Amino acid sequence: MLDLTSLTELLAQPCKIVITTHHKPDGDAMGSSLGLYNYLIQQGHHVKVITPTDYPEFLTWMPGNEEVIIYTDNTELSAQLVADAALIFCLDFNALSRINELGVLVGQSSAYKVMIDHHLEPEDFDDYRHWDINACAAAQLVYDFIVNVLQKPEYINKDVATCLYTGIMTDSASFRLPNTTSDVHRIVANLIDAGANNSRIHELVYNSASENRLRFLGHCLANCLEILPEYHTAIIAVNKADLQRFDINTGDTEGIVNYALSIATIRLAAFIVERTDRVKLSLRSKAEFPANEICKKYFNGGGHRNAAGGHSETSLEETVQKFKNILPEYKKLLVQ
Ligand code: 5GP
Ligand code: MN
Repeated sequence: MLDLTSLTELLAQPCKIVITTHHKPDGDAMGSSLGLYNYLIQQGHHVKVITPTDYPEFLTWMPGNEEVIIYTDNTELSAQLVADAALIFCLDFNALSRINELGVLVGQSSAYKVMIDHHLEPEDFDDYRHWDINACAAAQLVYDFIVNVLQKPEYINKDVATCLYTGIMTDSASFRLPNTTSDVHRIVANLIDAGANNSRIHELVYNSASENRLRFLGHCLANCLEILPEYHTAIIAVNKADLQRFDINTGDTEGIVNYALSIATIRLAAFIVERTDRVKLSLRSKAEFPANEICKKYFNGGGHRNAAGGHSETSLEETVQKFKNILPEYKKLLVQ
């Protein structure tokens, strides 16, 4: 274990630090990691952000992105950096399986591990934990860690603010989800004061799609959307051939599930996609419906109550059928 005094002492001297985040990083994974990166480099530390996999093009503009190492493209260098690190920050995840093979290396490393996260049921691999399931984003917790735990608000510069704003904006679905509290808005106001250009960040993240991506969205809504009125549930299921036909890359499928949830009567929406390695599910729900419970119980996954994910090793058709078979168990919650 590492107490705050020992962590502060460690951080008082320049040291070798690795920051890592979950498989297929999203806006919060990259925003929180690069926000912390831009803070730590001001303190003279040697910092590397290592992601387990690639991540969407619309997240590659953030300050510090050019220094990010993708594990799958740089396995030897990543292993060396993890082995040499004195500290490893684990952001926006809390189980080593979420970072694939990198999790084995992190587990074996003698470095102190600091978890900054907002997911349920953390695994016990860390030495210091800044964890709150009520936080709307890991980026919110990184802000809190810098400002209130380390007490260094003066280091929230434009680069830190830009990355943390992106994390909070994306994970709160543009300040829309119920955990976007007045405290979150105050943090966001501070980030804008510190230099985050809010309208520019919205443009870079949300208005940077390719023509293919928009046509693919049209295809999903016109041809792949199935409504199950008796369960207030919508499913969008997409096969591998369609991904190839529209030249869909990492990140291009993000957010499509929300269109299914935008129907007034729908309480649960599923986006089920046949990726090259396995079938991936993204669930979104309204109000009290526990989407994460379905992912945890049936699809090797987890997440938050209203936004969760998982995967399945069976075919697309079988996965869709399995999902449909689960719905009667949740009928009461879905139709109330
Ligand atoms: P998405 O549907 O955007 O991939 O993920 C939504 C939420 O569920 C995110 O908070 C993400 O961390 C979580 N999530 C997605 N896939 C998995 C998974 O395979 N395992 C776990 N534990 N959480 C997941
Ligand atoms: Mn997050």
